[in-house]
Amino acid sequence: TSARVRAVPPTVFSRMSALAASTGAVNLGQGFPDTDGPSSVIEQAGVALRTGHNQYAPGPGTTDLRRAIAAHQWAHYGITLDPDTEVVVTTGATEGIAAALLGLVDPGDEVVALEPFYDSYAAMTAFAGGVLKGVTLRAPDFRLDPAALEAAVTKRTKLLLINTPHNPTGTVLGREELEAIARVAVAHDLVVVTDEVYEHLVYDDHEHVPLATLPGMAERTLTLSSVGKSFSLTGWKVGWATGPAELVSAVLGAKQWLSFTSGAPLQPAVAWALEHERTWPASLARDLQARRDLLCDGLDALGLPVRRPEGTYFAVTDISALGWDDGLSFCLALPERAGVVAIPLQGFYADGSSAGRQLVRWAFCKEPAVLEEGLRRLGAAD
Ligand code: PMP
Ligand code: GLN
Repeated sequence: TSARVRAVPPTVFSRMSALAASTGAVNLGQGFPDTDGPSSVIEQAGVALRTGHNQYAPGPGTTDLRRAIAAHQWAHYGITLDPDTEVVVTTGATEGIAAALLGLVDPGDEVVALEPFYDSYAAMTAFAGGVLKGVTLRAPDFRLDPAALEAAVTKRTKLLLINTPHNPTGTVLGREELEAIARVAVAHDLVVVTDEVYEHLVYDDHEHVPLATLPGMAERTLTLSSVGKSFSLTGWKVGWATGPAELVSAVLGAKQWLSFTSGAPLQPAVAWALEHERTWPASLARDLQARRDLLCDGLDALGLPVRRPEGTYFAVTDISALGWDDGLSFCLALPERAGVVAIPLQGFYADGSSAGRQLVRWAFCKEPAVLEEGLRRLGAAD
């Protein structure tokens, strides 16, 4: 095994899902829904499989899908994109993250990311030879501190890696926070990569504002998203990167050597979803909001202070209220103690930070009966 791979700890999601499978625990860890997305979209994939879409698709993605992605950005956000040069299809947002970092970061470059961060940001920054610097969204509110962001930027900073709605905290960055990011990016002439996979999963009166829509940002922002979260099709792994041709071509430059091309029979179905199931993600969000409340009310009632998330699949609690001071030990013991799996946040911070030690993430993208069973088990644990 290469030093590169050995240097990065294995992803906590595999470890925790394996633990859930081996113990029969209720899996409130890895974020995936337990009901599939629209049957009409799945049917379209079946049609594609039966009608000759089984060989390599073009490397940047099919023309229809690239057009549908551009039309989605226009319909929802008023963003105009040339589907031929400003859109590339990736194998999930995961490949978008990998290709963006490999395509844009040179050894020694610094990448400034919101912390806690999705674990692949750290792994792929390291693979690219870059150095990840965290700007901590601090408990209990998990808001962005503009001064901390400004302080994290040095002359070696190559890009800002933003994520809104934010996994794992559930924060949806508001206008002022986005404006602070834009100010820093413009002042230091930085590229911004923004992971917006939860773009449609926002609750109450919160609104997702793409960073690319702020003044001065369209020309420096690469936006990542995917079909997984918006359409409850996480296993499909079809994503996209959009933005200025120069940034998209950097992604394509790396992607051509990673996967070359993404799943051909799924691309027509994803294009179809974006065009014909436009309101489905909003109805999913209404559903998820009720599940969020079910889980958060339940955790609250168990004495776990919980921050009610503004978006995403996840709620974060501080387990010190239960007398634990280490989220990893708590989560490793939880399947035996209670028959439930959750995700410790401490691996989502840059080395040496203890800011996430007592924080644990719970996924609410599950059937209400599953959430109720998880809460019942937690309530019955010692
Ligand atoms: N970014 C974030 C913040 C995520 O939560 C996820 C979910 N796994 C991804 C990227 C990856 O998305 P995909 O499944 O499309 O690769
Ligand atoms: N995004 C999901 C989560 O955060 C899935 C993670 C994964 O599969 N790597 O739980």
